[in-house]
Amino acid sequence: MPMKSVAIVGAGIAGLTAALSFARHGIDCEIIEQAGELTEVGAGLQLSPNAARILAELGVLPEIEARWTEPVSVDLASGKSLATLLSLPMGAVARRRWGAPYGVLHRATLQNALLQAVQRNPLCRLHLGKRIENATADIIAATTFRDHELIVGADGVWSAARFAVPSAPTATFSGNIAWRFTVSENDVPPAINKSAVTAYLGSGGHIVAYPLKEVGGFNIVAIALGADPGATWRAESSGRQKAMLLEQFRGWSPELLRLLEKADDPTFWPLYQAGPGRWHNGRDTVLIGDAAHAMMPFAAQGAAMAIEDAFELAGMLAGETRQTLAAFEALRLSRIEKARKRASLNRFAYHATGPVRIARDLVFATRPAEAFLKDFDWLYGYRARG
Ligand SMILES: Cc1cc2nc3c(=O)[nH]c(=O)nc-3n(C[C@H](O)[C@H](O)[C@H](O)COP(=O)(O)OP(=O)(O)OC[C@H]3O[C@@H](n4cnc5c(N)ncnc54)[C@H](O)[C@@H]3O)c2cc1C
Repeated sequence: MPMKSVAIVGAGIAGLTAALSFARHGIDCEIIEQAGELTEVGAGLQLSPNAARILAELGVLPEIEARWTEPVSVDLASGKSLATLLSLPMGAVARRRWGAPYGVLHRATLQNALLQAVQRNPLCRLHLGKRIENATADIIAATTFRDHELIVGADGVWSAARFAVPSAPTATFSGNIAWRFTVSENDVPPAINKSAVTAYLGSGGHIVAYPLKEVGGFNIVAIALGADPGATWRAESSGRQKAMLLEQFRGWSPELLRLLEKADDPTFWPLYQAGPGRWHNGRDTVLIGDAAHAMMPFAAQGAAMAIEDAFELAGMLAGETRQTLAAFEALRLSRIEKARKRASLNRFAYHATGPVRIARDLVFATRPAEAFLKDFDWLYGYRARG
């Protein structure tokens, strides 16, 4: 019997994309969100072609493209000298090679585009200001006043929907802290490429900078080793966090330090990741996005994987031949593991010191850019089936 109705816990990137993906198959979606209104924490996002292709199929890409920037290249540079170590062309090259664009945008741009599409869709209903403590069928039905064949837990790294899934993953501190902030274009030193995504590398840390057209400035993410702030942590910001940021990057290029000094109230963001575990209860509940597999941002793929999950889940469960939750987990797990490995490799290479750093720089200097682009084909060229 075809599926009639799905309940989705969480109206983040995963939840909103899941609603649009199920509605595309004619299925009613009720989205339950704890926040009273949807405002985005954090600032920028890199959106790779594997995700952009799905957003195009869901009809939201044109609105995003009108606001985002397609960087001409993704560069790796020294955090001390600012010398470019590797430059990979993006822009038209990404569109040609992977059949979809690579863009950088404010998170609010993506969230608003998804939200507006959900609000326009007569099959989608959003319940704001309703926190779910445990995603049992009864609790969900009491919130939406109807029964659902499927409950999708898309409630992020601190997921409560996990309680309905035996042996679900749990969140653990990764050992790294991120500081996130935006600066105006006038505060960006001339040495920083204004039309690229640049990751500045150094021992034990890196800084990513890219333009954000929406705020007329730049998005900065600085990541370094840090102590576990405790399981009860929530994003916070204060003068102390800024002092920690400047201390962590002492000895880096003066231009980068001036940039960090411009940070007006940086958001302090300890990085948690989801460990191994089941994503479904074998019956009617499944986890997607950060709830299932929150990963380190070293490959900039967390949101992209959430978008892929949502689209493929709908395709597998609502498509012509309905597949099982176990089949969904098996399909997605192998891809998520590959993305995680890529993120670990990037962490190792970005924060390298001593002989490893020397070997890394030699590889960057001698290996052709085409070989590096080829390494991305499995990731950016992926065609999710929805
Ligand atoms: C520093 C940093 C940089 C990043 N950069 C990138 C990047 O460039 N590219 C990229 O692809 N990814 C990036 N990511 C990863 C990306 O941000 C996440 O993977 C993505 O936002 C996950 O989306 P989600 O919808 O699964 O979870 P979330 O965005 O956390 O959304 C969860 C939603 O569920 C709601 N919710 C939570 N609990 C409940 C509850 N109990 N009841 C009801 N509602 C609830 C929340 O309010 C929220 O709206 C980055 C992450 C970090 C930390």
